[in-house]
Amino acid sequence: MDDCIFCKIVRGEFGTTIVAENEYAVAFDDIAPIAPMHTLVVPRRHIESMAEANAEDLAMLSGCLLLVNDVARVKGIETSGYRAGFNVGPDSGQTVFHLHFHVFGGQRLRDMA
Ligand code: 5GP
Ligand code: ZN
Repeated sequence: MDDCIFCKIVRGEFGTTIVAENEYAVAFDDIAPIAPMHTLVVPRRHIESMAEANAEDLAMLSGCLLLVNDVARVKGIETSGYRAGFNVGPDSGQTVFHLHFHVFGGQRLRDMA
């Protein structure tokens, strides 16, 4: 997608610092973190949200989830714990319509709003 901000980041157009990457996805820190550690895992291929995913996307989705674990290791929170999740559609507050997994850590997440 030519005008998609995350496609541009994946292509390296902004020189964004990459936290971790694999064949299927790249991870970079959120520009407006809401936890001490807030990183995004973004598939290389444009897909609007999880609602668009189907069985053909299983390898990509697995690649994203494994990259979540790599992010936790790079950030040193693999033992203290972390949370990953995604937003779909208006009620979730999704603002970027390229699938991404938020990875949060570095604090007691049960205290997060
Ligand atoms: P959503 O609300 O769609 O689930 O999450 C989108 C996230 O992308 C937000 O947390 C927002 O701060 C982040 N974001 C939006 N634009 C950029 C950007 O240009 N760079 C980075 N690193 N994060 C961004
Ligand atoms: Zn995109």
